[in-house]
Amino acid sequence: MKSLYGKFLAFTVGIMFTSGLVAYLFVNTYYHQVLKEKNDWKNMNIALSITSFIEQNGSLDLNEYLRTQAAMGYRLLVIDSKGEAKLYGEPFRKDNLSPAAVEQVLNREIYHGMRDLPSETFVTGFFSNESANTVGVPFKHQNEQYALFLRPDIKMLFTEVHHILGGMVIVMAIFSLLSMLVVAKKLIEPITKLTVATKKVGEEQYSETIQIKRKDEIGQLAQSFQRMTEKLRENDRMRKEFISDVSHDFQTPLLNIKGYSALLLKEELKEDERKSYASVIQSETERLSSLTKQLLLLTSLDQLTSPLVMKTFDLSAQLKETVRKVRWLLEEKELSLSMDMEDVRYTGDPAFLEKVWENLLSNAIKYTQVGGSIDLSLTDQADGVKISFSDNGIGMAEATRMHVFDRFYRADQSRTKESGGTGLGLSIVQQVISLHQGTIEVHSELGKGTCFTVFLPKL
Ligand code: ADP
Repeated sequence: MKSLYGKFLAFTVGIMFTSGLVAYLFVNTYYHQVLKEKNDWKNMNIALSITSFIEQNGSLDLNEYLRTQAAMGYRLLVIDSKGEAKLYGEPFRKDNLSPAAVEQVLNREIYHGMRDLPSETFVTGFFSNESANTVGVPFKHQNEQYALFLRPDIKMLFTEVHHILGGMVIVMAIFSLLSMLVVAKKLIEPITKLTVATKKVGEEQYSETIQIKRKDEIGQLAQSFQRMTEKLRENDRMRKEFISDVSHDFQTPLLNIKGYSALLLKEELKEDERKSYASVIQSETERLSSLTKQLLLLTSLDQLTSPLVMKTFDLSAQLKETVRKVRWLLEEKELSLSMDMEDVRYTGDPAFLEKVWENLLSNAIKYTQVGGSIDLSLTDQADGVKISFSDNGIGMAEATRMHVFDRFYRADQSRTKESGGTGLGLSIVQQVISLHQGTIEVHSELGKGTCFTVFLPKL
């Protein structure tokens, strides 16, 4: 029984059967413990009233009288002193009345066969149609001693009401079983759909949308599954795009290196040509090297567990050190740099944060024209620290601003080509900041300048 539906069916039938069995055991025990004795006395009184009537009416037709009594719903066994037995009503299923019991009643003692019926778990007491399960009383008729054994005829006791009630129970059982089967089918249907959809996702087919419109737990599961599939589809698309971008970004410098090295092999090369070709090869190699480093950094940031190694350090000192490292670049481009920094100690990963400042500062330098200015500020706030890098450089259009954090996004290939940009810097910046549960905002205007504002909460 592998399917859920089969299991449900087996369980339903099993539960119905078990509850029937438990109910039977309960009722049967109740009969043996409580009802048996009462029932015995009830029947004893009936037998006694029959025999007292016989004894008071010596002239009555015994046969006829007993036949009418039997017709009222009893089985009567009459045994005379010679041991001759006569049955009135339907025969007993089992004739197990002991000769001792017959002897006892013929000796004018009463017999409590119903009360003394042994209580066995799987032997029905009330329904047990045996001659031993009777009450016995003595009587005299026309100077002859008799023993009368009596028990109710259950079949006759079953009236229309009992049949109607019994029928009701059977119809209820069949109807509830059938309804359960329909309900089970309806319940299991969406699970089957989900299984099919899961298999498809396992085969990397994310296009499927599952049609399950329910508000219960299965509906919620279907919704979560749908969301998960959409996320996987998006991740898959990004992964493919990423691979194609990476391949493209590796391909271009490699082709340049190949082309220029082929040129270098020519014999009749002038000195300045040789130098220029070698410098292209050198810059393309550097580009490949920085691309590889950034990809490695991104991969380490993409890990499921946070790669951060937290430490409390002097943030203002770190920013000043970053500026110091690029001082020569600033001078080369004749850029003025102002710093407005409060002394702040911050707990975060200093190695990754250093990359953030390096990227933001090098972008400000890269995208600001000669003679421009850059402002750096660090403010200590109650709930975190705010760092901003603002420049009066080339700025960016709204469309560019929307995508600056996307991997491999470069605003304009021509303007960034000579800057050696990979389009990975800002996505690394954003990832490091979000690992610190911080935020980064960018305000920019084409031709006027750009301002990146980072907020890092105090963890
Ligand atoms: P890149 O390595 O190309 O600089 P980034 O991810 O650091 O890659 O930046 C993505 C793009 O955002 C850049 O190509 C550039 O167009 C734009 N950008 C980043 N910083 C600035 C800035 N300070 N001024 C103008 N444009 C910027």
